[in-house]
Amino acid sequence: MTQSMSLPTHTQAAVLVDYNAPPEVRTLPVPDLEPGAALVKVEASTMCGTDVHIWRGEYEAAGLSKLPLVPGHEIVGRVVALGSERRVDALNRPLAEGDLVAWSYAWCGHCYWCTVAKQPTQCESARMYGWGPADRSPYITGGFSEYAYVMPACSMVKVPEGLDPAVAASATCAFRTIIHGYEKIGRIETTDTVVIQGSGPVGLYALAYAVQSGASRTVMIGAPTARLDIAKRWGADVQLDVTSTSVEERRERVRDLTDGRGADLVVECSGRNAAFVEGMDLVRRGGRYLVLGASEPKPVEMRATYLNLRQLTVAGTMSGDISHYYRALRFLDDHQDRFSFGDLLGNRFSLDQVGDALLGMEQMREIKPVILPNA
Ligand SMILES: [Zn+2]
Ligand SMILES: [Zn+2]
Repeated sequence: MTQSMSLPTHTQAAVLVDYNAPPEVRTLPVPDLEPGAALVKVEASTMCGTDVHIWRGEYEAAGLSKLPLVPGHEIVGRVVALGSERRVDALNRPLAEGDLVAWSYAWCGHCYWCTVAKQPTQCESARMYGWGPADRSPYITGGFSEYAYVMPACSMVKVPEGLDPAVAASATCAFRTIIHGYEKIGRIETTDTVVIQGSGPVGLYALAYAVQSGASRTVMIGAPTARLDIAKRWGADVQLDVTSTSVEERRERVRDLTDGRGADLVVECSGRNAAFVEGMDLVRRGGRYLVLGASEPKPVEMRATYLNLRQLTVAGTMSGDISHYYRALRFLDDHQDRFSFGDLLGNRFSLDQVGDALLGMEQMREIKPVILPNA
């Protein structure tokens, strides 16, 4: 191991002790570094909508979140120490103390999904940071902490130094999921009309990707106005406010734009069942529907004939592997002059303000709060 004398033995972290209560700032141990692990000092974390759901205890019944936990899974940090077997990132670039890095969840690398299906995001023994538990080693896997522990099975990539670390952090959940989704649904043609449902961070990033990919026309369906304004600045040809238009009006508008056919590609980023039902009717016959946001556990009715008689292709993805992290970070770095990615970010919060940030995000006062544990 290459632990230096200056390695911290403890860290301050925002710890969720009880669901629905504000996380408490507590001191947690920094674990000894396993050979393939790394310790990073968190440069910036951003909050994901999932953090709010975790805080509200919505994943407790499924056994996914385990209290106490350090939330936060959109993180970039600087390498403080590397385990003896961690020498390079996922692109074989040397890693050194001080490098700004992002890292994937820990896939086991030897189950059916990791090796045969090559779908590690479905790994049967995945370990995701930001879900706990924080009362046993390695304690600090979440991002709302001064220091974070990168497990040996996590792949790491260097973060472009020209990128705002907070913007980079937002790539590590929201944007990498989108990259994964577009990869699965297939390329965007220059004649395509693309409809994005949902103007949160996922929807706005999905819009930027569609615009940059050369889509003929893009339509953003969402709210509130401030987010639709970002969509407009980023190149959405049409913005439809869900609070002032009906499902029928939106469908008519999309049909009008496409000679009555409907959209070639619809991307669901809203998380709502109602959006899914609506989206199935916005796709043209033979078109494609990419589902990224869906999160309601309640079932929804769907006509099976949409799949054969209407020949729709419906696909979805969750999370992403390290290739998606890399490509998301590259996209943000390459196109930051065209898209003002910083517009997505909300206020800056310290560790003792994580509760305020959760509330702000839940109440949609913040698109994406930034947590700066070391500020
Ligand atoms: Zn997330
Ligand atoms: Zn696996």
